[in-house]
Amino acid sequence: MQHDASRLCASHPAAGIATCPHCGTFVCDQCVVRHDWGALACRECVERRRPRFPLSWEQRISLRSWWQTFATVLRQPRALFSHFPELAGPRALGFAAIGTLADQLAGEASPAQSPWPLWLDVLSVLTLTPLGAAALWVVLRLAKPETSFGTILTAIWLMDGTYGIVFAPLSALDPEGLRAGVTIALGAVAMLVVYVRALWFLTRRRLGAGPGLSAAAIGAYFTVVFGLSVALLMLADGPT
Ligand SMILES: [Zn+2]
Ligand SMILES: [Zn+2]
Repeated sequence: MQHDASRLCASHPAAGIATCPHCGTFVCDQCVVRHDWGALACRECVERRRPRFPLSWEQRISLRSWWQTFATVLRQPRALFSHFPELAGPRALGFAAIGTLADQLAGEASPAQSPWPLWLDVLSVLTLTPLGAAALWVVLRLAKPETSFGTILTAIWLMDGTYGIVFAPLSALDPEGLRAGVTIALGAVAMLVVYVRALWFLTRRRLGAGPGLSAAAIGAYFTVVFGLSVALLMLADGPT
C-alpha cells in the first residue's frame, strides 16, 4: 500500500491516500474501504466482492491457527463469511473433523449415553453437510448460476467444526434424562449462533443473494440436514 499525497484520487479532485491492492486504483479517504481485519480496498472492488478474509486456517495448519479460526467463526462471522476465502476442501474437512471428534470424545465421557454414535458423526460430516450444501447451492443457482458449490461446502465445514466444539460441553455434562429437552433446546440455540448468522452473511454478502433468496436457501439447507438427521437417528436407534 503506497501513500502519495501529491497524486489525486481516481474519482475525486481530492488527494489520494492509498492504492487498492486488488486493481491498483489510487483512492482518496472517501473512496477507500477499511475492512475489520485492517486491509484497504476501493469501493468498486468491494462491490465486486474481491477482498477476502485472511483466514488463519487457510494460511497454515497449527493449534494456534485452529483456535484463531474457531474464534473468528464465533466472533467475526460478518467479516469472515461476507468475504469468505477460497478455502481448500481437505483443509475445511480437517477443521470439521477436529470439532466433530472433540464433541464425540465429550459424548463418550458423559454419564448419559450419547444417542449420536461415532459412525453417525462421520456420516454427518461426509454426507449430511455436502447434501445440505447442495440444497443451498441449488436454490441459490436459480438466481445466481455462477454460485460456487466449493465455497458453500468449505464454509459449512468450518461451521461444523465450530459447532462441534461449542456443543462438546453439552455432550459431556448433560445429566441423564435432560438430554431430550434441554440438550435439544441448547443445541438449537448453538446452531442459531453458529450456522444461521454465518449462512446469512455467506449467502447475502459473499454470494450476493437477496434476502428472500437467502432465506429460501438457508431453509433448504436446514430442511435437508434436520430431515436426514432425524432419519439417521431413527436408524441408529433401530426398531423399538
Ligand atoms: Zn480496487
Ligand atoms: Zn475519492
